[in-house]
Amino acid sequence: MNDSIVISANSAKKFGQQVVSWYHQQGRKHLPWQQNKTPYRVWISEIMLQQTQVATVIPYYQRFMESFPTITDLANADEDVVLHHWTGLGYYARARNLHKAAKIMAENYAGNFPVDIDEVIALPGIGRSTAGAILSLSLKQHHPILDGNVKRVLARSYLVEGYNGLSKFDKALWSLSEQLTPVIETDSFNQAMMDLGATVCTRSKPTCNLCPVEKSCLAQASDQQMNFPQKKPKKKIPEKKTIMVIPRISNEKAKKVLMEKRPPAGIWGGLWCFHEVDNEDEIDSLMTKLSLKALSLEQHEEFRHTFSHFHLDITPVVVDCRELEHAEVDTTKINEPNQHKWYDLHLGESVGLAASTQKLIALLSD
Ligand code: SF4
Repeated sequence: MNDSIVISANSAKKFGQQVVSWYHQQGRKHLPWQQNKTPYRVWISEIMLQQTQVATVIPYYQRFMESFPTITDLANADEDVVLHHWTGLGYYARARNLHKAAKIMAENYAGNFPVDIDEVIALPGIGRSTAGAILSLSLKQHHPILDGNVKRVLARSYLVEGYNGLSKFDKALWSLSEQLTPVIETDSFNQAMMDLGATVCTRSKPTCNLCPVEKSCLAQASDQQMNFPQKKPKKKIPEKKTIMVIPRISNEKAKKVLMEKRPPAGIWGGLWCFHEVDNEDEIDSLMTKLSLKALSLEQHEEFRHTFSHFHLDITPVVVDCRELEHAEVDTTKINEPNQHKWYDLHLGESVGLAASTQKLIALLSD
Protein backbone atom coordinates (compact mmCIF):
# COMPACT_ATOMS: atom_id res chain seq x y z
CA MET A 1 0.00 0.00 0.00
CA ASN A 2 2.88 2.32 0.74
CA ASP A 3 4.11 2.29 -2.87
CA SER A 4 0.82 3.66 -4.15
CA ILE A 5 0.58 6.98 -2.29
CA VAL A 6 -0.34 9.43 -5.01
CA ILE A 7 -0.63 13.13 -4.31
CA SER A 8 -2.73 15.41 -6.45
CA ALA A 9 -0.86 18.13 -8.31
CA ASN A 10 -2.69 20.77 -6.25
CA SER A 11 -1.76 19.23 -2.90
CA ALA A 12 1.84 18.81 -4.01
CA LYS A 13 1.97 22.44 -5.12
CA LYS A 14 0.51 23.64 -1.83
CA PHE A 15 2.94 21.51 0.20
CA GLY A 16 5.86 22.94 -1.83
CA GLN A 17 4.70 26.53 -1.40
CA GLN A 18 4.22 26.17 2.36
CA VAL A 19 7.66 24.65 2.81
CA VAL A 20 9.43 27.20 0.61
CA SER A 21 7.69 30.12 2.27
CA TRP A 22 8.68 28.74 5.70
CA TYR A 23 12.27 28.56 4.42
CA HIS A 24 12.23 32.23 3.43
CA GLN A 25 11.03 33.17 6.90
CA GLN A 26 12.72 30.62 9.17
CA GLY A 27 15.29 28.57 7.27
CA ARG A 28 19.00 28.61 8.05
CA LYS A 29 20.85 30.73 5.52
CA HIS A 30 24.05 31.76 7.28
CA LEU A 31 25.95 28.52 7.71
CA PRO A 32 29.47 28.57 6.25
CA TRP A 33 28.60 26.20 3.38
CA GLN A 34 25.62 28.34 2.43
CA GLN A 35 27.97 31.19 1.44
CA ASN A 36 29.62 31.17 -2.03
CA LYS A 37 27.84 27.92 -2.82
CA THR A 38 29.69 25.62 -5.20
CA PRO A 39 29.17 21.88 -5.70
CA TYR A 40 32.51 21.27 -3.98
CA ARG A 41 31.68 23.31 -0.87
CA VAL A 42 28.18 21.82 -0.60
CA TRP A 43 29.56 18.30 -1.14
CA ILE A 44 32.00 18.59 1.77
CA SER A 45 29.26 19.94 4.05
CA GLU A 46 26.76 17.25 3.07
CA ILE A 47 29.25 14.47 3.79
CA MET A 48 30.30 16.01 7.12
CA LEU A 49 26.66 16.49 8.14
CA GLN A 50 25.84 12.80 7.71
CA GLN A 51 25.36 11.46 11.25
CA THR A 52 26.82 14.69 12.70
CA GLN A 53 25.18 17.83 14.14
CA VAL A 54 25.60 21.24 12.49
CA ALA A 55 27.31 22.78 15.54
CA THR A 56 29.94 20.03 15.57
CA VAL A 57 30.54 20.25 11.83
CA ILE A 58 31.15 24.02 11.58
CA PRO A 59 34.76 24.17 12.92
CA TYR A 60 35.71 20.97 11.06
CA TYR A 61 34.27 22.39 7.85
CA GLN A 62 36.12 25.68 8.22
CA ARG A 63 39.47 23.96 8.86
CA PHE A 64 38.89 21.56 5.97
CA MET A 65 38.10 24.32 3.49
CA GLU A 66 41.07 26.39 4.63
CA SER A 67 43.41 23.45 4.04
CA PHE A 68 41.74 22.17 0.86
CA PRO A 69 40.08 25.13 -0.86
CA THR A 70 39.72 23.26 -4.17
CA ILE A 71 39.10 19.73 -5.40
CA THR A 72 42.67 19.65 -6.73
CA ASP A 73 44.08 20.63 -3.32
CA LEU A 74 42.14 17.77 -1.75
CA ALA A 75 43.18 15.31 -4.46
CA ASN A 76 46.86 16.21 -4.01
CA ALA A 77 46.81 15.97 -0.21
CA ASP A 78 48.31 13.08 1.66
CA GLU A 79 45.64 10.70 2.98
CA ASP A 80 47.01 11.07 6.51
CA VAL A 81 46.52 14.82 6.39
CA VAL A 82 42.94 14.40 5.13
CA LEU A 83 42.19 11.88 7.89
CA HIS A 84 43.75 14.20 10.45
CA HIS A 85 41.17 16.85 9.49
CA TRP A 86 38.51 14.23 10.22
CA THR A 87 39.86 13.10 13.59
CA GLY A 88 36.93 13.27 16.03
CA LEU A 89 34.15 13.29 13.40
CA GLY A 90 33.96 9.49 13.19
CA TYR A 91 32.84 7.32 10.27
CA TYR A 92 36.23 7.68 8.62
CA ALA A 93 35.14 5.91 5.43
CA ARG A 94 33.52 9.25 4.61
CA ALA A 95 36.91 11.00 4.57
CA ARG A 96 38.60 8.25 2.58
CA ASN A 97 35.79 8.37 0.02
CA LEU A 98 36.05 12.18 -0.23
CA HIS A 99 39.72 11.81 -0.97
CA LYS A 100 39.17 9.07 -3.55
CA ALA A 101 36.38 11.03 -5.25
CA ALA A 102 38.58 14.16 -5.39
CA LYS A 103 41.31 12.16 -7.11
CA ILE A 104 38.79 10.88 -9.68
CA MET A 105 37.58 14.43 -10.32
CA ALA A 106 41.16 15.70 -10.65
CA GLU A 107 41.93 12.99 -13.15
CA ASN A 108 38.69 12.71 -15.15
CA TYR A 109 37.08 16.13 -14.78
CA ALA A 110 40.10 18.47 -14.72
CA GLY A 111 39.47 19.16 -11.02
CA ASN A 112 35.84 20.20 -11.58
CA PHE A 113 32.75 18.74 -9.97
CA PRO A 114 30.59 16.83 -12.50
CA VAL A 115 27.16 18.37 -13.08
CA ASP A 116 25.33 15.27 -14.33
CA ILE A 117 23.57 13.46 -11.50
CA ASP A 118 24.48 9.96 -12.73
CA GLU A 119 28.15 10.92 -12.87
CA VAL A 120 27.92 12.36 -9.34
CA ILE A 121 26.25 9.18 -8.01
CA ALA A 122 29.07 7.14 -9.61
CA LEU A 123 31.63 8.84 -7.32
CA PRO A 124 32.65 7.02 -4.12
CA GLY A 125 30.55 7.81 -1.05
CA ILE A 126 27.80 9.76 -2.85
CA GLY A 127 24.31 8.26 -2.96
CA ARG A 128 21.22 9.51 -4.77
CA SER A 129 20.08 11.84 -1.99
CA THR A 130 23.49 13.45 -1.45
CA ALA A 131 23.96 13.91 -5.20
CA GLY A 132 20.51 15.53 -5.41
CA ALA A 133 21.31 17.82 -2.49
CA ILE A 134 24.66 18.91 -3.95
CA LEU A 135 23.29 19.70 -7.41
CA SER A 136 20.09 21.32 -6.22
CA LEU A 137 21.61 23.45 -3.45
CA SER A 138 24.61 24.64 -5.44
CA LEU A 139 23.31 24.71 -9.03
CA LYS A 140 19.53 24.83 -8.53
CA GLN A 141 19.03 21.62 -10.51
CA HIS A 142 15.72 19.84 -10.00
CA HIS A 143 16.33 16.65 -7.98
CA PRO A 144 14.44 15.18 -5.03
CA ILE A 145 16.35 14.28 -1.88
CA LEU A 146 15.71 11.83 0.95
CA ASP A 147 18.04 12.04 3.92
CA GLY A 148 17.04 10.87 7.41
CA ASN A 149 15.44 14.21 8.31
CA VAL A 150 13.36 14.38 5.12
CA LYS A 151 12.27 10.78 5.64
CA ARG A 152 10.87 11.64 9.06
CA VAL A 153 8.88 14.65 7.77
CA LEU A 154 7.41 12.64 4.88
CA ALA A 155 6.71 9.47 6.85
CA ARG A 156 4.77 11.51 9.41
CA SER A 157 3.02 13.77 6.93
CA TYR A 158 1.66 10.82 4.94
CA LEU A 159 1.71 8.03 7.59
CA VAL A 160 4.13 5.89 5.61
CA GLU A 161 4.61 2.59 7.37
CA GLY A 162 8.02 1.00 7.84
CA TYR A 163 11.45 1.95 9.05
CA ASN A 164 14.68 3.34 7.60
CA GLY A 165 16.45 0.84 5.42
CA LEU A 166 13.33 -1.21 4.63
CA SER A 167 13.14 -1.12 0.85
CA LYS A 168 9.32 -0.76 0.62
CA PHE A 169 9.52 2.21 3.00
CA ASP A 170 12.37 3.91 1.16
CA LYS A 171 10.67 3.35 -2.20
CA ALA A 172 7.41 4.91 -1.00
CA LEU A 173 9.27 7.92 0.41
CA TRP A 174 11.29 8.45 -2.76
CA SER A 175 8.05 8.46 -4.70
CA LEU A 176 6.61 11.10 -2.33
CA SER A 177 9.75 13.21 -2.53
CA GLU A 178 9.64 13.06 -6.35
CA GLN A 179 5.99 14.15 -6.39
CA LEU A 180 6.46 16.97 -3.88
CA THR A 181 9.76 18.54 -4.98
CA PRO A 182 8.95 21.66 -6.99
CA VAL A 183 10.77 22.51 -10.21
CA ILE A 184 11.07 26.14 -9.16
CA GLU A 185 13.07 26.89 -6.01
CA THR A 186 14.13 23.27 -5.64
CA ASP A 187 17.12 24.53 -3.66
CA SER A 188 14.98 26.35 -1.08
CA PHE A 189 12.57 23.42 -0.84
CA ASN A 190 15.30 20.82 -0.29
CA GLN A 191 17.14 22.94 2.24
CA ALA A 192 13.86 23.61 4.04
CA MET A 193 12.92 19.93 4.22
CA MET A 194 16.29 19.08 5.76
CA ASP A 195 15.98 21.99 8.21
CA LEU A 196 12.41 21.07 9.13
CA GLY A 197 13.43 17.53 9.99
CA ALA A 198 16.43 18.75 11.97
CA THR A 199 14.76 21.55 13.91
CA VAL A 200 10.94 21.16 13.93
CA CYS A 201 9.95 17.61 13.06
CA THR A 202 12.52 16.19 15.46
CA ARG A 203 12.69 12.56 16.49
CA SER A 204 11.47 12.88 20.06
CA LYS A 205 9.69 16.24 20.40
CA PRO A 206 8.29 17.58 17.15
CA THR A 207 7.02 21.14 17.51
CA CYS A 208 4.05 20.76 15.21
CA ASN A 209 2.67 24.21 16.03
CA LEU A 210 5.73 25.69 14.26
CA CYS A 211 5.48 23.44 11.22
CA PRO A 212 4.38 24.82 7.85
CA VAL A 213 2.60 21.58 6.87
CA GLU A 214 0.82 21.10 10.19
CA LYS A 215 -2.66 21.42 8.67
CA SER A 216 -2.19 18.62 6.14
CA CYS A 217 0.01 16.35 8.30
CA LEU A 218 -1.71 13.02 8.92
CA ALA A 219 0.42 12.14 11.96
CA GLN A 220 -0.49 15.41 13.63
CA ALA A 221 -4.18 14.94 12.81
CA SER A 222 -4.21 11.49 14.39
CA ASP A 223 -1.68 12.21 17.15
CA GLN A 224 0.66 9.51 15.88
CA GLN A 225 3.89 11.49 15.47
CA MET A 226 5.87 9.14 17.67
CA ASN A 227 4.81 6.05 15.71
CA PHE A 228 6.39 7.27 12.46
CA PRO A 229 8.86 6.29 11.21
CA GLN A 230 8.71 2.99 13.05
CA LYS A 231 11.76 1.83 14.94
CA LYS A 232 14.03 -0.60 13.21
CA PRO A 233 13.84 -3.99 14.96
CA LYS A 234 16.91 -4.16 17.18
CA LYS A 235 19.54 -6.84 16.85
CA LYS A 236 21.69 -7.50 19.87
CA ILE A 237 25.19 -6.49 18.93
CA PRO A 238 28.07 -8.76 19.92
CA GLU A 239 30.79 -7.86 22.42
CA LYS A 240 34.49 -8.36 21.70
CA LYS A 241 37.56 -7.85 23.85
CA THR A 242 41.04 -6.70 22.97
CA ILE A 243 44.24 -5.56 24.66
CA MET A 244 45.88 -2.46 23.21
CA VAL A 245 49.60 -2.41 23.75
CA ILE A 246 51.22 0.99 24.02
CA PRO A 247 55.02 0.78 23.90
CA ARG A 248 56.33 3.98 25.47
CA ILE A 249 59.82 5.44 25.60
CA SER A 250 60.31 8.37 27.95
CA ASN A 251 63.56 10.24 28.31
CA GLU A 252 64.68 13.82 28.76
CA LYS A 253 64.32 14.49 25.01
CA ALA A 254 60.95 12.94 24.27
CA LYS A 255 57.98 10.95 25.40
CA LYS A 256 56.86 8.80 22.52
CA VAL A 257 54.54 5.89 21.87
CA LEU A 258 54.59 3.37 19.04
CA MET A 259 51.59 3.12 16.71
CA GLU A 260 50.74 1.13 13.64
CA LYS A 261 48.76 2.18 10.61
CA ARG A 262 45.71 0.06 9.84
CA PRO A 263 45.21 -1.38 6.36
CA PRO A 264 42.95 0.82 4.21
CA ALA A 265 39.88 -1.42 4.51
CA GLY A 266 38.12 -2.50 7.70
CA ILE A 267 37.78 -1.06 11.19
CA TRP A 268 39.77 2.20 11.58
CA GLY A 269 41.05 1.69 8.03
CA GLY A 270 44.02 3.94 7.22
CA LEU A 271 44.13 5.37 10.77
CA TRP A 272 46.88 5.17 13.36
CA CYS A 273 46.16 2.76 16.23
CA PHE A 274 47.99 0.89 18.94
CA HIS A 275 48.95 -2.74 18.43
CA GLU A 276 46.38 -5.27 19.58
CA VAL A 277 46.87 -8.67 21.19
CA ASP A 278 44.31 -11.18 22.44
CA ASN A 279 45.97 -11.85 25.80
CA GLU A 280 48.86 -10.58 27.92
CA ASP A 281 51.06 -13.59 27.09
CA GLU A 282 51.42 -12.23 23.56
CA ILE A 283 52.95 -8.93 24.69
CA ASP A 284 56.47 -10.37 25.03
CA SER A 285 56.55 -11.73 21.52
CA LEU A 286 55.15 -8.46 20.18
CA MET A 287 57.96 -6.55 21.93
CA THR A 288 60.52 -8.91 20.42
CA LYS A 289 59.00 -8.45 16.98
CA LEU A 290 59.29 -4.69 17.42
CA SER A 291 62.89 -4.99 18.72
CA LEU A 292 61.92 -3.49 22.05
CA LYS A 293 62.77 -4.54 25.58
CA ALA A 294 59.93 -4.23 28.08
CA LEU A 295 60.99 -2.62 31.36
CA SER A 296 57.62 -2.47 33.08
CA LEU A 297 53.93 -3.00 32.30
CA GLU A 298 51.06 -0.91 33.54
CA GLN A 299 47.50 -2.06 32.92
CA HIS A 300 44.80 0.62 32.74
CA GLU A 301 41.07 0.39 33.26
CA GLU A 302 39.03 -1.25 30.50
CA PHE A 303 36.79 1.00 28.40
CA ARG A 304 34.20 0.33 25.75
CA HIS A 305 34.14 1.62 22.18
CA THR A 306 30.92 0.90 20.31
CA PHE A 307 30.82 0.44 16.55
CA SER A 308 27.58 0.13 14.60
CA HIS A 309 27.86 -3.66 14.61
CA PHE A 310 29.74 -4.57 17.81
CA HIS A 311 31.05 -3.36 21.16
CA LEU A 312 34.79 -3.49 21.66
CA ASP A 313 36.04 -3.65 25.26
CA ILE A 314 39.59 -2.32 25.26
CA THR A 315 42.15 -2.92 28.00
CA PRO A 316 45.12 -0.58 27.54
CA VAL A 317 48.53 -1.83 28.63
CA VAL A 318 51.35 0.72 28.65
CA VAL A 319 54.76 -0.91 28.27
CA ASP A 320 57.68 1.26 29.30
CA CYS A 321 60.52 0.02 27.17
CA ARG A 322 63.79 0.75 25.45
CA GLU A 323 65.03 -0.09 22.00
CA LEU A 324 67.28 -3.11 21.82
CA GLU A 325 70.90 -2.49 20.98
CA HIS A 326 71.97 -4.45 17.92
CA ALA A 327 68.32 -4.85 17.09
CA GLU A 328 67.54 -6.81 13.96
CA VAL A 329 64.68 -4.42 13.25
CA ASP A 330 65.85 -0.85 13.52
CA THR A 331 62.92 0.97 15.12
CA THR A 332 64.38 4.33 14.19
CA LYS A 333 63.56 3.31 10.65
CA ILE A 334 60.28 1.76 11.54
CA ASN A 335 58.44 4.72 10.01
CA GLU A 336 59.73 3.90 6.59
CA PRO A 337 57.31 1.23 5.45
CA ASN A 338 54.69 3.69 6.65
CA GLN A 339 53.11 1.06 8.87
CA HIS A 340 54.66 2.08 12.22
CA LYS A 341 55.26 5.43 13.82
CA TRP A 342 56.78 6.78 17.00
CA TYR A 343 54.28 9.43 17.99
CA ASP A 344 55.67 12.20 20.16
CA LEU A 345 53.18 12.94 22.92
CA HIS A 346 54.57 16.43 23.50
CA LEU A 347 54.51 17.51 19.88
CA GLY A 348 51.36 15.79 18.60
CA GLU A 349 51.20 15.18 14.88
CA SER A 350 48.93 15.85 11.92
CA VAL A 351 47.84 12.30 11.31
CA GLY A 352 44.48 10.54 11.37
CA LEU A 353 43.97 8.91 14.75
CA ALA A 354 41.31 6.34 15.60
CA ALA A 355 38.92 7.45 18.36
CA SER A 356 40.41 4.90 20.77
CA THR A 357 43.94 6.14 19.99
CA GLN A 358 42.89 9.71 20.73
CA LYS A 359 41.37 8.67 24.02
CA LEU A 360 44.53 6.80 25.04
CA ILE A 361 46.78 9.68 24.05
CA ALA A 362 44.70 11.99 26.25
CA LEU A 363 45.12 9.49 29.10
CA LEU A 364 48.89 9.31 28.60
CA SER A 365 49.31 13.05 28.26
CA ASP A 366 47.68 13.72 31.66
S1 SF4 B 1 3.08 18.60 11.76
FE1 SF4 B 1 4.48 17.75 13.26
S2 SF4 B 1 4.69 15.61 12.72
FE2 SF4 B 1 3.77 16.65 10.98
S3 SF4 B 1 5.51 17.11 9.66
FE3 SF4 B 1 5.11 18.91 10.94
S4 SF4 B 1 6.44 18.66 12.74
FE4 SF4 B 1 6.34 16.69 11.69
